Amino acid sequence: MKTNKDAGSAVRRWWEELREKSYNATVVSRDELSANYAIIRVVVDKAREVFSAGQYTTLGLYGFEFRVPYALPDRKPALPDKLIQRAYSIASASTDTREFEFFLSLYREGQLTPRLFALKPGDRLYVGTRIVGSFKIAQVPPEKQILMIGTGTGAAPFMSFLRSHVHQQTHPRIAFVQGAASLNELAYYAELRFMHRAFEHFRHLPTLTDPRPTWLGHRAWIEDMLKSGTVEREGEIAIDPELTHVYLCGNPVMVENVMAWLIEERGYERHTGRQPGQLFIEEY
Ligand SMILES: Cc1cc2nc3c(=O)[nH]c(=O)nc-3n(C[C@H](O)[C@H](O)[C@H](O)COP(=O)(O)OP(=O)(O)OC[C@H]3O[C@@H](n4cnc5c(N)ncnc54)[C@H](O)[C@@H]3O)c2cc1C
Repeated sequence: MKTNKDAGSAVRRWWEELREKSYNATVVSRDELSANYAIIRVVVDKAREVFSAGQYTTLGLYGFEFRVPYALPDRKPALPDKLIQRAYSIASASTDTREFEFFLSLYREGQLTPRLFALKPGDRLYVGTRIVGSFKIAQVPPEKQILMIGTGTGAAPFMSFLRSHVHQQTHPRIAFVQGAASLNELAYYAELRFMHRAFEHFRHLPTLTDPRPTWLGHRAWIEDMLKSGTVEREGEIAIDPELTHVYLCGNPVMVENVMAWLIEERGYERHTGRQPGQLFIEEY
């Protein structure tokens, strides 16, 4: 007679077979910035091709994997044997082809992120075999300046670019305006402050919307920092389509507002597959 215990072990064996069939990477580390943000590093079984900083790949887990206990039930339940896959920007340097870093934001009712947030070092997952995307920051002509504007996990593609190229001094000026709610969610703060001090051509302008009283930096919305001239003054960068290419990534409201201001007030044109421009946008 089959018992519940037999049925349980058959299910576990089935899960193990699916994991072995599809998973091709192992979690190396996981840093929790807050309940909603985490940085994970993974090692892939087979090296990928060298990519261009700003590109993305997919991460995947099966529907039977556990969700973090503080998540809510899936808004749209995932089938147990479905490999749930989503796109994630790579935050590590473009020459690192075995180990990749991702900066993740938790959607409590989402299908994949509550499962990604439950991963621990040593756990297996799927990482896409292709690295794709047209948000390639290194394609800016060397004589131009680069203004990168990112909020939350929108910092990831910019970290990949800085980690790959800031030391090469390829462009006369690079500025990164980074927005977050609080200091613990302002990812890579120590690394970016180090770059700001070490490289004269790089300026880091962080701003927090909900800081502790001890925060001495900016507390403004990025839109207001642009309008008031703070970005141009402190970033030592011209917001002029003839001189500077702008890259935007992150909160959709910020992206929409900043894009409108750049186009209407500064004459920027959005870069598309059909028409070249000086304004590049990655929408999550
Ligand atoms: C090119 C690209 C790069 C990306 N890079 C990153 C990255 O670096 N880091 C990152 O974290 N994400 C990134 N994303 C987003 C990522 O692909 C997923 O969409 C995201 O992680 C949600 O996946 P999920 O399966 O948890 O949620 P899903 O099940 O896909 O549900 C997400 C959608 O459902 C809605 N939703 C679900 N729960 C909530 C909630 N609690 N509140 C509000 N709306 C909700 C929203 O409309 C949301 O878009 C990127 C996307 C693209 C296209």
